[in-house]
Amino acid sequence: MRSEMVCLEKSHPREGLWRRTAPVPEIGPDDVLIRVNKTGICGTDIHIWNWDDWAQRTVPVPLITGHEFAGEIVELGRNVTDLSLGQRCSGEGHLIGHHSRQSRAGKFHLDPETRGIGVNEQGAFAEYLRLPAFNVVPLPDEIDDDTGAILDPLGNAVHTALSFDLVGEDVLITGAGPIGIMAAAVARHVGARNVVITDVNPDRLDLAARVADVVPVNVAKEDLASVKDRLRLQQGFDVGLEMSGNQIALDQMVDALVMGGRIAMLGIPPGKSPVDWSRIVFKAITIKGVYGREIFETWYKMIAMLQNGLDIRGVITHRFARDDFEKGFAAMKSGKSGKVVLDWA
Ligand code: ZN
Repeated sequence: MRSEMVCLEKSHPREGLWRRTAPVPEIGPDDVLIRVNKTGICGTDIHIWNWDDWAQRTVPVPLITGHEFAGEIVELGRNVTDLSLGQRCSGEGHLIGHHSRQSRAGKFHLDPETRGIGVNEQGAFAEYLRLPAFNVVPLPDEIDDDTGAILDPLGNAVHTALSFDLVGEDVLITGAGPIGIMAAAVARHVGARNVVITDVNPDRLDLAARVADVVPVNVAKEDLASVKDRLRLQQGFDVGLEMSGNQIALDQMVDALVMGGRIAMLGIPPGKSPVDWSRIVFKAITIKGVYGREIFETWYKMIAMLQNGLDIRGVITHRFARDDFEKGFAAMKSGKSGKVVLDWA
């Protein structure tokens, strides 16, 4: 085993990430060491690159960033008996505690002591990643490393989409970023009737229409009321998946929903945003906040769906070698990309 590795590090408290050499992590008895093959660049990584207020409050410097990955197990801690060397894997990037009521009830994704790799702990933009064996998710042969590297955001999409029963329902998704697009593909896959996705960015709407069987709507040009007429919806949409964090989009969603409609919210509004609560009350709307993935039920469901035909590979629009990471981040920041994958092999 080599003693040093290449990584992308937040080395200074300012804009950017830096290519560095760092020691290969030492693993504890319950950990594995993963050789990273592919990583996805997340919106979170852009916040860290930009060093915005959230990143300054959250991320220690220096830190190896990145949390979306696929790789192969190359070392096992001495207590790890249920995994093997050479096993291809991805993994849950939330490192949970075992003390909270939620954790002890098995609701690991609700543990308030959670720490994130690439955000609070050393991350996956590196040739090697240490991960607790508990967090490892083995990849079946049908799931390639490109898809394996984006299971984290696909998990966000699946967790959001499966928050409510979508079978036969009319679904409105606001925000055609990669997670919104993947949620649209999932909604279609599990049997929604109409899936409408909105944005104001034509490139993202084009990508949505290429990846999933959805109705893309540019809300800068077309009103959702006319879309409802076009699709002959009697009242409106049954379920909304809010992926944009945009308060206008949420407002349009509440307006377009049926009485008793349901909303799963993954998009993060910037700061406090004004909400017309009276309309939510009078329409008897249920809102669920979605964080991360259910550990490990979301992983189980998404791998099962990928095995039975869910295809989201088209959401990857750019691939770069890891040394071209600056091009990858530029593609992300252009607002025109889908998922961007870096190749570490
Ligand atoms: Zn992510």
